Amino acid sequence: MGMVGGGQLARMSQSAAIALGVRLAVLAAQLDDAAAQVVPATTVADEKALADLRAFAQQCDVITFDHEHVPPVHLRSLQAAGHVVRPSAEALIHAQDKAVMRSRLTSAGIPCPRHRIVFDPGDVVAFSAELNASAFSELSGAAASQAGDSIGLTNHPGLKTPVMLKTTRGGYDGKGVWIVRCADDAAEPFKAGVPVLAEELVNFRRELAAVVVRSPSGQAVTYPVVESVQRDGICVEVVAPAPSLPGRLAVEAQRLALAVAAELDVVGILAVELFETSDGRLLVNELAMRPHNTAHWSIDGAITSQFENHLRAVLDLPLGSPQAHAPYAVMVNVFGGELPEVYSAYRHCMSRDPALKIHWYGKTVRPGRKVGHVTVLGDDVEDLRERARHAAGYLRGDVDE
Ligand code: ADP
Repeated sequence: MGMVGGGQLARMSQSAAIALGVRLAVLAAQLDDAAAQVVPATTVADEKALADLRAFAQQCDVITFDHEHVPPVHLRSLQAAGHVVRPSAEALIHAQDKAVMRSRLTSAGIPCPRHRIVFDPGDVVAFSAELNASAFSELSGAAASQAGDSIGLTNHPGLKTPVMLKTTRGGYDGKGVWIVRCADDAAEPFKAGVPVLAEELVNFRRELAAVVVRSPSGQAVTYPVVESVQRDGICVEVVAPAPSLPGRLAVEAQRLALAVAAELDVVGILAVELFETSDGRLLVNELAMRPHNTAHWSIDGAITSQFENHLRAVLDLPLGSPQAHAPYAVMVNVFGGELPEVYSAYRHCMSRDPALKIHWYGKTVRPGRKVGHVTVLGDDVEDLRERARHAAGYLRGDVDE
C-alpha cells in the first residue's frame, strides 16, 4: 500500500500496517518527515509532481493519503493509467474543495450552514443582508432588535450579520478562514484570487465529529460520536463519546456520516465535522477522507484503531470493531512550546500517570507545532480531562510542579 504524505498520520498507520502484515510505502517530502523515520519503503519526492506520483504508484497495488494536498488532476491521471486510488479522485474532491462539498451535500439533503460563493466584498455585504433579513423574519420586532444589539451588530452598519469567509481550496487548521464583521474586513480573503465561500456564522453549542470507515464492498462501521474542542481553528482536545450528547443526536450524526460516505462512495476513513447548534440541530462543517485527529483516541481506546480500519478498508478487507474499551477516552494534542528539551518532561509525565498513553511524532519541537498527543481512558470525564491537559501542558512547558 502506498501512502502519499509523510506526516504523523502515515507514521501512525505504520504501526497498524506492521500488525496486519501489510507493506506500507510512503511518499514523503523529506527524509526526516515523521513517517519517513519509521517506514523503510520511503520515497522522497514531490507530491504535486505527476511524474513523481506515477513512479511511486508503479511500486504499489493501491494508493491512499495522509493529507488532501495532491492535485485532483493528478489523481485522475493516475486512475486513468489504471492505478487504484482510494479514496478516489471523485470522492476526495469533496475534502479538497469546500465549494464542491457544500453544493454536493446540500443537493443530497445533508444539513449545512447557509452559504454562497462570493466574488467580491459587495457580494459579502449582500449575503449578510439576506442572512439578516431571514434571521429577523424569524423573530418578532422587539426580540429582533434585542438580538441585534446583544451581538453588537448595530456597531457595523455595513454588515448587519457577521459572515464566515473561507478559501475554497488549500485551507487547514483555521488558515484560510475569516470572520467578517464589517465591510472593510471583507477585502482580505479575495486577495489570493481563489473563489471564496461565504457561510452564516453558526451559533454552535460545541463541535462534534462523526468518524466512519467504509470499504469498496460497501461495508461500513461508525466510531462513537466525539466532542472536539478547537482553539484558533485547531483541534486541541477530543472526548469520546461526546459527553451528554442526546441519543437522538448521536444516532443522527452517525446516520449523516454513513449517508455522506455512501453518497460520495468514500473508501477508508471519513471524518464528518459537525456543529451542534444551540437549538439542538446538527450541521455539517467539513469532511476529511483520511485518518483524522478526532479519532486518534481509537489507537488506545477502541478494539480497532482508525489507522487499522483505514488500511483494512483500502485493501477491501473485512472491517474491525470500533467498539470502545472504556466509557470515556480523552485525547489532548501536544503542541511545541518554549521548552527547549522535552526529555525530562516526558519522563515526568510517564511516572506521574502510568495509565497515560503518550504518542510522539518524531518532529523537531517548535512553538505551536503539533508534536504528539496523549490519551487517557476511564469513566470520569473531568478527571480524564485534567490528567490529559496536565500532561500536554507539562510537555509544552506550561506547567511547572
Ligand atoms: P479548516 O479547513 O481550517 O479546518 P474549517 O472550515 O473547519 O476550516 O473552520 C475552522 C474552524 O472555524 C471550525 O472548527 C469552527 O470552529 C470555525 N467555523 C468554521 N465554519 C464556521 C461557521 N460557518 N460558523 C461558525 N464557526 C465556524
